[in-house]
Amino acid sequence: MLVDGANRIRLGRAKRIHPGGIAPEKCTFLKYCISAQQDLSKNQGSFFDMVSFRKIKYTVLDNFSAVRKIARFGKRMQKELRSPRLVSIELTNACNADCIMCSRKYMKRKVRHMPLRLAEHVIDECKKAKVRGINLFWMGESLMHPHLDDILQYAKRVIPNIPIGLNTNGSLLTDERATIILNSTIGGISVSVDGCTKETYEAIRKNLSYDQVRNNVENFIHKRNSMGMKTPSVGAYFIQMEENAMEAKLFEEHWSAIADGAKTVAHWNWGGTQKNRAVGDHRKRASAQTFNFPCMNLWKELVISNDGTVSMCCVDYDITEEIGNIETSSIMQIWRGPALQRIRKLHMEKKYKEIGMCAACNRFALQMNSSWEHMWVES
Ligand code: SF4
Repeated sequence: MLVDGANRIRLGRAKRIHPGGIAPEKCTFLKYCISAQQDLSKNQGSFFDMVSFRKIKYTVLDNFSAVRKIARFGKRMQKELRSPRLVSIELTNACNADCIMCSRKYMKRKVRHMPLRLAEHVIDECKKAKVRGINLFWMGESLMHPHLDDILQYAKRVIPNIPIGLNTNGSLLTDERATIILNSTIGGISVSVDGCTKETYEAIRKNLSYDQVRNNVENFIHKRNSMGMKTPSVGAYFIQMEENAMEAKLFEEHWSAIADGAKTVAHWNWGGTQKNRAVGDHRKRASAQTFNFPCMNLWKELVISNDGTVSMCCVDYDITEEIGNIETSSIMQIWRGPALQRIRKLHMEKKYKEIGMCAACNRFALQMNSSWEHMWVES
């Protein structure tokens, strides 16, 4: 850093004017800027590439609030980039359901369970990378894994303090599996329930029984409570689509009484490979296609498939954009590696249409009006 006169400093290639004549070394905000720049330059490529994407131009900072914004931005980016916020582990891509909105039916990848040895290796990697959360789910029904108990017990021993979540369709949440889960460190279970009547649910979640899922959830919560436990919490989720939108309100009322919470979420089109079933605001936002910020998923989540291949994003169900393999690289090598960097850079340059799955993805629209979007585009 160079100090030029009383107020002007140079930060990398940019010239800035620091307001108020405060010595830059004594300014916490500027220290953040500088350390963020150094960290990002070292680990993530050019900080200036990133910030130029936002509309803040770093030639001259002529007011204190601009400095503050950069400081916040740098601090946030440092946190985001340190390690994945979430690692999704595909215990299996087998499933006992055939849901109308799921891309499994188009998936060309071999159907298989993650070997126990690989699952343990991934857990070790999560420990080393200090990931902030794990989701035991991707393209299949995790409760079908034959070594679920072994995997959960290993996680309990090795990463007792990393929060673990599990997504399930709930149909296999038997008493036996409930015991396995209640004996693990899983902190939250998300059960997908896309209807509030038997007819609607079973037309969407084909091969499953609405009554069975509801009974399983009720029994699980009863068992948990009778053991004096408060976790895992059980949330019911409802993907809003043309086929069930009329039951969304009823679902929230009904299932918030059964589970610990009930939430409706927007449908997404699996990178445009699926019919767009979204409704309401999400459909409007997605069809507007006015994305002027990079997709948050690339800075948030790492998705490890059942054979160790790592996907750029959970939408990329056939792993068209492979960013590494956990058998040969560590989580941090992949997180900071050239394959993911290339995709992030394309997003920062607003060239996401050059990436097959991103070009027609409408999941992106879920991030509009979020703090992530504001961080990038606010000036
Ligand atoms: S735009 Fe869609 S496919 Fe691309 S990274 Fe984001 S969520 Fe994934």
